[in-house]
Amino acid sequence: MTGPRAEIGVIGGSGFYSFLDDVTEVTVGTPYGPPSDSLFVGTVGGREVAFLPRHGRDHRLPPHRINYRANLWALRALGARQVLGPCAVGGLRPEYGPGTLLIPDQLVDRTRSRVNTFFDGEPRPDGTRPKVVHVSLADPYCPAGRKAALAAAAGRGWDAVDGGAMCVIEGPRFSTRAESRWHAAQGWSVVGMTGHPEAALARELELCYTSLALVTDLDAGAEAGEGVSHAEVLAVFAQNVDRLRDVLFDVMAGLPAGDARDCECGAALAGQDPGIELPA
Ligand SMILES: [Zn+2]
Repeated sequence: MTGPRAEIGVIGGSGFYSFLDDVTEVTVGTPYGPPSDSLFVGTVGGREVAFLPRHGRDHRLPPHRINYRANLWALRALGARQVLGPCAVGGLRPEYGPGTLLIPDQLVDRTRSRVNTFFDGEPRPDGTRPKVVHVSLADPYCPAGRKAALAAAAGRGWDAVDGGAMCVIEGPRFSTRAESRWHAAQGWSVVGMTGHPEAALARELELCYTSLALVTDLDAGAEAGEGVSHAEVLAVFAQNVDRLRDVLFDVMAGLPAGDARDCECGAALAGQDPGIELPA
């Protein structure tokens, strides 16, 4: 395809790119319909980066209505092989209070209504039909990306938590106290609403995917007060967005180029025939 290309994709809000000079807005169509919004392509530290507002720029999409397949497909179609997924989460442990940055190494899917694979055997609008394949998600996040994220946070004086399981709930409501206590009792660290199927779909497209989870609140079971409010989440995110953006930009500098990856992410489909061509 002609037009701007990007080697890195960031799925996150406008706070991450709005101040960049020279951002090009690109509309990308996919076999799965339109992504959440246009992609905004700009240069960060000499690397071409595509930003995609996960919920749409006007935040019109709740987590369960995001077209995750279109989002990941569009990023890959622009050239991205590295995807960074900053997201807001609730802390499941008292020590993970607002402002904590956690780089998860595990994921627990507690969603229930989302299309979570490209390889469902169903024909696509162009008549092609993906085969049924099964990728490993034993380690859902790119080890190289996690390492780069931890180093970038440390470089900015932000002592990020190295590892932990992100539990992804269906939303859009927050957890009940009983659900939250149960999640915490399983040993899971944080709870969010968008980490799945984002990570799984990235793996299916052989992308490197790294989650940067910003704790905006203590989840209902981890605090004695009123529980989580959306206003509280937005306020804490706004307080930390500059800091998180600085870290994100530093992470990008530490990511290998698409053809220089030495992780396993780019071989997720090795030995299997997906029946469709992934975007080049
Ligand atoms: Zn990787």
